Amino acid sequence: MEFDFNEEQRALARTVRTFSLRELRDGYSRRDRERSFPRAIWKKLGELGLLGMRVCEEYGGLNATCVTQGVVAEEIGRADPNLGVAALAVAELVGHMLEHGTARAREEFLTPMIKGDKVPAFAVTEPHCGTDAVAMKAKAVKNGDHYILNGEKSGITLAKAADFVLVYAKTNATLGARGVSAFVVPADAPGITRQYYEDMGAKSLVRGSIFMDDVVVPEDCLVGAEGEGFKLMMKGFDASRVYLALTCLGAANISVEETIRYTRERSAFGKPLARFEGVSFPVAEHSAILEATRLLCYKALWLRDQGLPHSKEAAMVKWMGPRFSVDAIRDCLLLHGHYGWTQELPFEQRLRDVMAVEIADGTSQVSKIVIARELYGREFLPY
Ligand SMILES: Cc1cc2nc3c(=O)[nH]c(=O)nc-3n(C[C@H](O)[C@H](O)[C@H](O)COP(=O)(O)OP(=O)(O)OC[C@H]3O[C@@H](n4cnc5c(N)ncnc54)[C@H](O)[C@@H]3O)c2cc1C
Repeated sequence: MEFDFNEEQRALARTVRTFSLRELRDGYSRRDRERSFPRAIWKKLGELGLLGMRVCEEYGGLNATCVTQGVVAEEIGRADPNLGVAALAVAELVGHMLEHGTARAREEFLTPMIKGDKVPAFAVTEPHCGTDAVAMKAKAVKNGDHYILNGEKSGITLAKAADFVLVYAKTNATLGARGVSAFVVPADAPGITRQYYEDMGAKSLVRGSIFMDDVVVPEDCLVGAEGEGFKLMMKGFDASRVYLALTCLGAANISVEETIRYTRERSAFGKPLARFEGVSFPVAEHSAILEATRLLCYKALWLRDQGLPHSKEAAMVKWMGPRFSVDAIRDCLLLHGHYGWTQELPFEQRLRDVMAVEIADGTSQVSKIVIARELYGREFLPY
């Protein structure tokens, strides 16, 4: 059993940490205040090869392992978990799907996304259904050599910033999951309108709704075969969920490190705070839980790299990663006393941003349904 990264992964972690400290950390709270998605940073992430890293070299990726991409998720999460969500979860899901797309879809959307020239969005959720995604009402009707898309997608990360959208719609309403197909659509296509939300956190992810009113897309914008969209998406979630967890753990671990420094230096009752067990024990407990969750993340990614089943592990960390990170960041905020409550320190923003991941890409309940399904078998699913 091997518990260390290889030299290449360690070097990448150092490079991404240096880049993150120089380019991402300072603007973290400004992007929250301005509710703006940083396109210039997106471009730099592309230039560094950090978008769609796992995609094969022919389409512009690095053919990186999932473990290597996990290292990047963790490092970006330390500086700005929102960018971790955009670069590792959204770009990963879209990259995974577009590898199954046509040559046109890859040239027009995948390679430009990997270079940082185009911003993607991934649209499944609808106003009446999120967890029960198969209940989607969006429709795609074939008409000669094109499809006509109608419907509304809601809660979509990067809805405001996106240049193109990977949209899921029913091509056959009677087949359940096997009737769902995926399409790649320019975000400025005639018939698309967008509306933006005032979110409590993850504000730079500029979420919103996307409305499709008779949107005409050529048939080569179908991604995968008709009816294959849902199956492909679920395979993508088994990776993106782990990157989301690692992004959150990055934000939690840097919070714990900052808290260790602070409680060493600040005194009360004539001693450093760190000498009081009421202070050091929560830090010890969070460190232990975060480290255990982190190891499970890398196990899930390692299993994926080996081509072994990993849905259970991915669902476990999708629940544990954001949940335990929220708990840790909350205590780190409290251990900074009243300073922690100010917006001068990053804890309140990290708390809001990481909490968003408890919902995004599947809630803790749906993660536990997947874990239970893997343990008990499909015949014990609640639906
Ligand atoms: C920050 C953020 C980013 C997002 N980005 C995207 C995106 O890019 N693309 C996209 O398509 N969607 C996105 N979403 C939407 C997200 O995927 C959904 O919000 C999520 O899947 C839950 O769906 P819902 O909001 O419709 O809640 P519902 O499915 O209505 O669920 C409401 C509550 O009931 C619980 N629940 C539902 N069913 C069960 C059950 N069977 N057993 C137990 N509990 C249950 C849920 O866990 C939840 O707590 C994003 C959401 C957030 C918050």
